[in-house]
Amino acid sequence: MQEDISTTHSSVINQIIALLDQYGRINSREFAVVTSSRIYIRDKDRVPRNKDNLKVYIERNNIAEVHIGKFNYFKNQEESNSFILGYSMKELVFDIDLTDIDYDKIYDLQGSNKLVIRKCCYGKKFCSKCWIHIKANVLILEYFMSQLGIDKKDMLWVFSGSKGVHLIINSKKSMLLNDLQRKNIYNMIEMFGDPTKTIEMANKLIGFPSKIMNEHIMDIYLILEKIIQHIVNKKGLRFLNRDSSFMGVLNSICLGYPDQILEIIEKSYSEKNQWNFMKQSFNVIAYTDKPNPLILSMFRYFYPILDKNVTLCMSHLIKCPFSINTNSGCLSLPLTRDQIMDMDDRYLIKCESLKGPWNHLTQEQNVIINNSINIMNLWLKK
Ligand SMILES: [Zn+2]
Repeated sequence: MQEDISTTHSSVINQIIALLDQYGRINSREFAVVTSSRIYIRDKDRVPRNKDNLKVYIERNNIAEVHIGKFNYFKNQEESNSFILGYSMKELVFDIDLTDIDYDKIYDLQGSNKLVIRKCCYGKKFCSKCWIHIKANVLILEYFMSQLGIDKKDMLWVFSGSKGVHLIINSKKSMLLNDLQRKNIYNMIEMFGDPTKTIEMANKLIGFPSKIMNEHIMDIYLILEKIIQHIVNKKGLRFLNRDSSFMGVLNSICLGYPDQILEIIEKSYSEKNQWNFMKQSFNVIAYTDKPNPLILSMFRYFYPILDKNVTLCMSHLIKCPFSINTNSGCLSLPLTRDQIMDMDDRYLIKCESLKGPWNHLTQEQNVIINNSINIMNLWLKK
């Protein structure tokens, strides 16, 4: 048992080093380490740039997080000393976080009042109710990745160890995307976040086929609808009203009288038919070039708010999978897309630092970590 635990611990550090060294050139990768007391060290003279020395350094110091950046390749030695880059490459990364919907970012349909989307939890905390937002975000990101022709095997979903998720893509094409291409991908996803603006924009572009926009909006709507329909079929509209942020959706579409209108709906329809009633009321099927309030609300509540710099900037560093989140003290874990969707407390695994050994871990936690190692190995194509 003791042996198992120290093996798990050592394998985790090996995984971090394998990602830094993905192309056998760890020395070309920009990276930094963060101690468990949150001291950030990027200085090349202090953190070894050699695989074996780095492993020893992590094992001996109170390192909690490793942050990874781009690979820099130079044409010749002179350039490497004079800041003239030959070429850079980096994984394509997306960052979604529940705290992005905590703060005053989203307005109601009239654009006058800020919406409080998360009512059940705040900050670091999350529960199955607010995690619905991450679920919806994951499905929408997956939709756009398939539109971009990105293979699922190149996508690594990483639970941050707190209340967010990273999607890291390492296909050959993604690694070689330049700044402008990354910006285009970000803009495309952002553009569809507000259907009214999307349609307005399409109409302003001379000769632009707004039919394409409508098709994307409908695709995304259908993804979101599946999640909501599933919840309502099981628990009824009242569940959304009482326990989740979906109250805001009801509020805006019930013209400020959600309680009264909900009561009428509950008396007249079974759980299974309550969602169909909502859809029919808002004539979703007949949607043409003007999105109805139900569609608009669903986008407002469930569309991903991406951390722009993470996706755009080549120079931006991201927390490496298997880092220990210094906010929560929990291990960041690569998981399957389905595990991310069904997130629960089992995946909150507390570890002080990467130094180990992690004697306090249970058998189940060791199994989870080893499963994460396997997921990452497959993704690294080892
Ligand atoms: Zn919650």
